[in-house]
Parts: sequence; C-alpha cells; structure tokens
Amino acid sequence: MAAIAPTDEDTALAGVWRHVFEASAAHAEHLAAHPSRTVILLPFVQLLPTAREWAMRSDVFKGFLPRFETVQSWARRLSSHEPAGIDLRFDVALDSLRARDWLARAGLADKQALLTGALVQAAHQLGMVVAAIAPEERAAWATDKRASLMVGLEASLGVLGYEQAVSRIALEWAAASSYVTDALWSDALRADADALVLVRGIGRDALAENLCARHGPISVVMDEALTLPARASHLQALELDAGWDEVDAALACVMGHVNAGRQIALAAEDRLLTRQISSALVQQGLAVNDETGWRLDTTRAAALLMSLLRAARWDASQAERMDWLRQTNAPRAQVDALERQWRLAGMAPGMASAMASNPASFDEKPGFARMESAQSAIEFIVIDGAVEWQTLLNQLRRARPLRAWLADVKAALQAAGQWAALQADEAGRVVLLALHFDGGLAGELDGGDASLSLAEFSRWVQDALQADSYKPSLGTDLSQAQVTILPLAQVMARPFDVLVIAGADEERLPQAPEPTGWWTAAQRELLGLPSRAQMAAERQVAWQRALGTPRVELIWARSDGERERVMSPLLARSLMQAGVTLDAIRMSDPRETVSVQALPTPQPQPVMTGLASQELLARTERITQSDYQALRTCPYRYYALRLLGLRELDALDAQISKRDFGSWIHDVLRQFHEQRRAGQDAITHAQQLDDIAAESRLQGEGFIPFDAAWPQVREGYLKWLAKHEAQGIVFSAAEQKLVRPVEETIRLEGRVDRIDCAAEGLMVIDYKTENDSRTRERVRDPLEDTQLAFYAALHDEASSAGLRAAYLNIGEKATVLVEQTEVGAAREALIEGVRADITRVRGGAALRALGEGAACEHCAARGLCRKDFWA
Ligand code: SF4
Repeated sequence: MAAIAPTDEDTALAGVWRHVFEASAAHAEHLAAHPSRTVILLPFVQLLPTAREWAMRSDVFKGFLPRFETVQSWARRLSSHEPAGIDLRFDVALDSLRARDWLARAGLADKQALLTGALVQAAHQLGMVVAAIAPEERAAWATDKRASLMVGLEASLGVLGYEQAVSRIALEWAAASSYVTDALWSDALRADADALVLVRGIGRDALAENLCARHGPISVVMDEALTLPARASHLQALELDAGWDEVDAALACVMGHVNAGRQIALAAEDRLLTRQISSALVQQGLAVNDETGWRLDTTRAAALLMSLLRAARWDASQAERMDWLRQTNAPRAQVDALERQWRLAGMAPGMASAMASNPASFDEKPGFARMESAQSAIEFIVIDGAVEWQTLLNQLRRARPLRAWLADVKAALQAAGQWAALQADEAGRVVLLALHFDGGLAGELDGGDASLSLAEFSRWVQDALQADSYKPSLGTDLSQAQVTILPLAQVMARPFDVLVIAGADEERLPQAPEPTGWWTAAQRELLGLPSRAQMAAERQVAWQRALGTPRVELIWARSDGERERVMSPLLARSLMQAGVTLDAIRMSDPRETVSVQALPTPQPQPVMTGLASQELLARTERITQSDYQALRTCPYRYYALRLLGLRELDALDAQISKRDFGSWIHDVLRQFHEQRRAGQDAITHAQQLDDIAAESRLQGEGFIPFDAAWPQVREGYLKWLAKHEAQGIVFSAAEQKLVRPVEETIRLEGRVDRIDCAAEGLMVIDYKTENDSRTRERVRDPLEDTQLAFYAALHDEASSAGLRAAYLNIGEKATVLVEQTEVGAAREALIEGVRADITRVRGGAALRALGEGAACEHCAARGLCRKDFWA
C-alpha cells in the first residue's frame, strides 16, 4: 500500500483509528503498562500495516508504540509449535492422509474416497471451535458434545450413517488435537503482555474473546470500533445489458480512478470475474495486490500436473493424452504428426486402449501402421536411455504408497520436461510445496502409508490443490499497489478512496453465504459453528462497513445470456432504507464509445482462374455422387472441398454415431450375402448375422445402444428379405465400384451398396439407417434425388434396361424398401445435368455460395464462405 496522504476524506478514518489508540492508551495507562507490553488484537492480518501507519502518524503515543497483532500472528511469535501425531495441520494434503487413517480405524476403509474430503472439512471447522476453548476444558467439552451430537442418530444407516460417522470422528479428532494458538492459553501470554485490547471485527472471534475473558484484569474489548458511517450518497450503480461487458466496464472504472490518483479496493465476490478483471488490470500495467489469492487448482501449473494424471488413466481419451503430450518437451512436429494420424483415424473412445492392449487386431485397419509409427516416434530421455511416452504413462497405472507416488510422478514429470517448467513458475513452486514433493511427508505417515490407486492419488492431489491458494506477486511491489483485490469483509477501516464491486447481482453478491459442510442447523448450534442467521448478520455488517468507503461503485449485468439478473439484495435493502431509487444512483458507463464502420463480407463467387486448364480438367474429370451433390447444393462448397481439396480433420475421440452404425450395417450385410449359401433356413441366417455382427462390432461404450437395437434390426431385415426374394429377386453384388464415361473427359464413378437381379433387370439399392420419413422424402421429387439417379447413371444403356432403384431403410421397427419409380427419367436428367454443369465450371462460371438451411448447418466450408458475416 502506498504511503497514506492525508486528505479531507481521511478525517473519518483518522477518527476511527484515533478512537482505538486513545482507548488503548488509556487502558495501558490505567494498568501502568508500558506501550511495548500492550497488545492490540486486530481482526485480520491485513489491518496490521494500516494500524501501525496511523499509530505512527497520531500524537496519541509518545515515543513507544503498542504492538499490533492478530491471534495467529501473536501465537506464532510466542510459540514454536510443530503439529505432531494426530494434531490437525490445517493442510488438506496432510490432513486427508490422517483422515484416511481415522476412517480405516472406524471400519470405513471402503468409503475413504467418499468421506475423506468431508471429514477433513468437518475437522477443520471444529478445530477452529476447539482452539477457542482452554486446553484443560476440552475433554469435558468433548464429552458433553459427544453425547448430544449422537442423540437420535444412534443407529443411522446409509448416507445418514456416514454423516454421523464423519461428525463423530471430526469431534474426536478436533478435541484430541493441539493447536498453534495454545501458546496463548499458557503463561507465555502474561509473560509477554501487561495490557490487552481486543478490537472486534465482523462477527465473533471466539478465541480472542475467550482469551480476554481469561485475562480479564488486563483486557478490554472494543465493539464497533472500526465502523465508519455508511454513505449511501456515495453509492453508484452501473447496470449493463450483457454479462460479457462486466470486465471491460470494471476495468474502465478502475482505470479512471487510478488516473485520478485514487486508491482502489476491488471486492473479490465472483472468483472468475475477479480473475478476469485482475488480468486485464495487470495487462494495463497497473500495480495490483491480490489479497485473496487464486485457488491452486485453477492455476496453469495445477493443470499441467493434472494433465499427466488424467493421461495416465487406462480409459483416458485421445484428447486427454494429446493435452498432456502438448505440455511435455516432446518435439512439436512429432506431436502434431501423431495428432494428425489420430484425427484421420477418427477413433472412438476406448479404441485407443483396445489398440494398446491388442495391436494385432488393428493391423488391417487403414492407416494403423502410420499411426503406430507416429506413436512410437515420441520418446523421452531418462537416465538410463529413452522411454516411450505410452510406457511412461503405463508405469503410473498401478497402485502404490503415497511416498512412491510422489517419487514416481516426479520422475515422470522430469522425464517429460515438466518438472523444470513447474519449478520455473511461481505458482508451480507453490503447487509442488502444497503436495509435499519436497519430502515434507516424512514422519507424517508413520507406517500408515497405505497403497493408493491412481484414482485415489489423483483425488488427493485435486483436494489438496483445491483447498490451497496462491497469491501471485503480479510483479507488484505491495507498497506501491494501486488496486487491492480483497474480500468485502476486509475493506473496513482501510484507506481506500473507492470500492468497486463487479458482479453485484443477487446471485454473486448474495444476502448471505451458504454454510459449508454436512452439519445440520441443530448441530451447528450445538457445536458453536456459525449459523446461517449469524452468517447473514455478519454479511450485513461487512456490507455496512464497506459502505463507509468514500465512494462505492457496483457493476452488474441484467442478463448472463441465459438468465435475467437483478441487483444484489444488499444494495436493494440499502436503497430502501435510505429511500433512494436505483435510478438516482445510476452512473454513466465509463467506457469510451468508439465508432467502427461495419465491413460486411460480400457473398463469395470464386472462379477457378488460378489453375491451368489441364489441371482444372483433371480435377473435374472424375465425378462421384457426393461431388455432384455438392455442386448442386452449393457450388462454393464444391469449389472448396472438391476443387481445392480442402477437408476437415476428424475430431479426436469422435463418438460412435448413427453414421458409424450405418457403415457397420453395410459391412455386416455385405459379409452376410457374400457368405450365404443356398438352402439355409431362417435360424441359420439369424445365427450367421449374429456371428458377423459380433465379429465386426465397433469398440467402445458408444456402441452399447446399437448392440441393444441389433436383434430387432436383424429380425426386421430377415423378414423383409424373405418377402423380397419371394418376388424372384436375388442378391448379386455388394459395394461394387462402377465407372461410366458420359463424355470423353467426364466420367461418373461410384460404389453401389447393393445390386440385385430380377427377371426384368437389375435393381440398385442404397441402404439407409435414417428416419423412414426422411427416406420417403428423398424419392418425392425424382429430379432432386441425385443419389439413385446417379447409381442408375453408372449403368450403360444395355444394363439399365428395366433397371429399378430403391432405398432400403433399415430400422429397429422394420426394414422397408422405398423405390424411386421415375428412375429412368431421373437418370437421363442427371447425365445431362453433369455435362452442362461441369462444362460451365470449366468455362469459368462463378461458383456462388448458394447453400441453404440444413446444407449449411454442418458444412465444413462454413468458415470459408463466411456466411455468418455476409452483407
Ligand atoms: S455454409 Fe452454406 S453457403 Fe457456405 S459453403 Fe457451406 S453450403 Fe455453401
């Protein structure tokens, strides 16, 4: 904090502190206590420098100043207490190990994963209560609470039984623990101080109050001493239309005040929003002091460590493995090559592990060899040579004791080049310390170093990082900070000129915080934990004291894009009490308005002018059904995807879709008809289909719904087949590739799903697994149905005599043949259309983006044609 310069607005704050100092000086004088043996206890540590500064500047103390402390800072000065044995450490990483022991001893070893976090939280909450009780009174307190806590819960089962067990263990643990503040209950306090002044903050500080009660003759308690009168007239509100404006608006507010030389407090009410504003402030070069810190699990360092643990899971997705590989020191080009192969393969979840465990079954898959070579190209250098990345991950799969986990994860991080990255990073060093990679667990495990699975170890890491925080230095010299980020409760009695509260709506600045933990209201009252009503009252006091800041600006948005939002109930109540309307305190948006001329994108109409005519000829010589469909649907799409040859890579871990199911059905039916022998009965056919289906089943959980549908699909198909063949139609070929020239330099190419033979001629069949109404829609207009017309056009005049064409809709409910009865005319029109359209493309016709509706919805060229930005 910068040196405090006296201004008119300092007067009220100076009066508050002067009152504290005068009362303290009078108390010390009354006890004939020297100022150096007078301790003034303040509610939170951030007030200490402010109090010292004001004390130095006041004329109350002549020569010597009293000592300013919090109970924690004083206890640490008086004691070298090191927790041992079952003492609570208030360190989630360590206490969760101890919690696992407690649970195992209570016969709940199989519930450790479920209960450890809750037990640590409950023990920490009760620890605060017990530390405020004189050590010699704790046993009696525990006896009393133990009996009362269990009344009515003696034989609880299920979740209630677990809650009961957690409460009981937490009580025993907290009662049996010693605390660093126990030094204040000893003679050391009297040896250190002759006069004690407790300045109450917001809410009750049970430990400080009980200490004052014990040392009544030398103690005095000051209530409400740090209260500045609330100034509703200095309240300003900015209600924005959209949530995404909040960061910019808060930034503009803060920048304006900083430029005017004011000290700013930014309330950290919404963690994410505060972090976004803080980053924006730092980017603007402002000196920011963040007193709240960032939860360790939200840092990049934590993400880096967790990426290793996630990638090591046997069922890790390709995306998780790629996420980790991208954060290692593996050569970028090799990782890119592997990602490309994975994307080209479009593997579904589960296939990666299936491939790892049984590579031989994938030998025939297209591209497998390239993928395998891309995978084995990535190696990490270790002391005795090199290790493949998959081996490195596999080594982290088996269970082991925590000490071994830390050693092995460290080795893996070192091999992958991540250890050095963590050590070089400010947050990374805190992450490593929080997890005791430095060996801080020695002596903590005393033989109870049980084996943890990868999931359990990951959970332990996650819990520890979630409970710990890190205060980034943000490159700031704290004495020069222009903006201080802090909780609302820590604004009081500090020399801020402006308090900015962003996200001041009913959800993010609520009336009262939610109590945490599994405690019931009755248990809270019994154990002396703050009740909901108490928390609401304390919140109201914090708000009132924050309003003592010379200027308070609240910012929120009416909508977060999904829900409407209204102002915080704290603000609403203040306005109501002051008889002021929201309109009366509205402030103008501090952001500068800049006019930018709109530059809409014109609809593209490319022509293939860049290509030599031979090249264009080559690219338009071979026309497939999907090429022609693309040209008909949208010439621009044809231009981008067919002429330029652009294509999207498949997503990593593509889910098994209805389309995959369709391809699988094609394959199963092809095999069935090729293997089928004359004279087989329906039972044999069903068995044959089942065997083929099982053999070629797609890997992964995503196929389970299709497994369930298969028996009905099979029955429906065989039923249709019997009727179909009864008309004298027989299977002839499947997946047959056909080529037919329609001009010297234009030929049609395609693969027909199935060709059957009847006495009158051939029947081309295309399988569909879509909704049957969609299939019927396809044949409604023969001239729009390019697919069956194209398959017909693949047959020359002779073989197309008497040709029929149909879609075979294969579904769970039934298999239905949907015939295109006008296929002859459609075939002629299609051949003419191909000739004319390709001639126009070759002649330099503009390939306009004419797609509409469903065609554009999943179009791979949508980002290229920029349809969303057209004029
Ligand atoms: S998004 Fe629509 S208009 Fe644009 S290329 Fe695709 S189909 Fe054509």
